[in-house]
Amino acid sequence: MRKSITPNQIKQNNKNLIYLYILNHPGVSQQDIAYDLRLSRPTVTTNLNELESVGMITKSGQLDTELVGRKANAYSAVPDYRVSIGVDIHSKELKLITVNLLGEYSERVVHSINYKNTDSYRKKVCEIVNGYIAGQGLKSEQILGIGIAMPGLVSPDGSEITYGKILDCTGLSIDGFSKYLNYPCRFFHDSESAAVSELWVSPELKDAMYIQIGIHLGAAMIMNRKIMSGMHGHNATIEHIFMGNNNKRCYCGRIGCAETLCALPSLCGEEPVHEFFGRLRSGDKNASKQFDNYLKDLAKIINSISLMYDKDFIIGGFIAPYLQESDMDKLHKYVQELNPFDDEGRFIFISRMPKHNITIGAALPYITEFLNRDEIE
Ligand SMILES: [Zn+2]
Repeated sequence: MRKSITPNQIKQNNKNLIYLYILNHPGVSQQDIAYDLRLSRPTVTTNLNELESVGMITKSGQLDTELVGRKANAYSAVPDYRVSIGVDIHSKELKLITVNLLGEYSERVVHSINYKNTDSYRKKVCEIVNGYIAGQGLKSEQILGIGIAMPGLVSPDGSEITYGKILDCTGLSIDGFSKYLNYPCRFFHDSESAAVSELWVSPELKDAMYIQIGIHLGAAMIMNRKIMSGMHGHNATIEHIFMGNNNKRCYCGRIGCAETLCALPSLCGEEPVHEFFGRLRSGDKNASKQFDNYLKDLAKIINSISLMYDKDFIIGGFIAPYLQESDMDKLHKYVQELNPFDDEGRFIFISRMPKHNITIGAALPYITEFLNRDEIE
């Protein structure tokens, strides 16, 4: 039997089309909307009135027309009609950001608070989140949801931490937070949130291995613009690939994991990253040697992965803002020395979104889901 489309579905579809068109073309005229979407003027007028009455779009000035003396209204979407909140939980900090429907973000707020696997900690975090929302002047109906990024693996529905050895929070349920927050809430694995941000700012990106280098090492495998989660939810956990017995113990309990070679502490120890790179860029020989050894270790892991996933590699995380193209050239050379192929062109790139990527990436899924709804409203 053929499926049929109801008049209501057509009506909703037109409304969505017009809304998304305006969102992507701020300051557009009614005439251009009708022409570009091949819709009748009355259809566009009706929808513009509806969208404006609920506050999704607004008149944003006047445009000249071909008719002398006649002006047309310009329409733009209201980016804050809906927003989402990104929360990034660390062992010593809590970071918050608001993201609107255009992916624009507020100034990020950081609170010093030590992680504890207790109800009073979670209550305190939620008090901070609620205070933050009130402080931003946001109304509850504006908020699509709160994405909480954690350094741990997360169940596919975002309701539970399935592996959380870094914060010792394996088994933690989202209810522990959502009972104090009057909004939809979901956990996200922090590396995946970082990759989500990268996808948002890179519309042409299709397949890549995203490597997140911070206090810990992490990764996300991007395939056809989707992040692969795997059968057991631990796809791309490259941090636990065995790299040889180096007598360094990983937080997972095993020795010689990539985490012990390529996370930031193995590059700069206790030294703050900016100080390390300050020394490096001013020509300090020790820093130069340390960095070179680090790049060689990183090349080993990139080479191993590239033999199985022959795609671009993106280096993100705390390290990214300090990296230069010449570092990537060197890293690429070290990778090439390890494999038998003479591939043309560089395939290792610095993240395009080195700042706040995890916090923003925790908020973005609510935005993309909203914009992909059958009924955007
Ligand atoms: Zn490990």
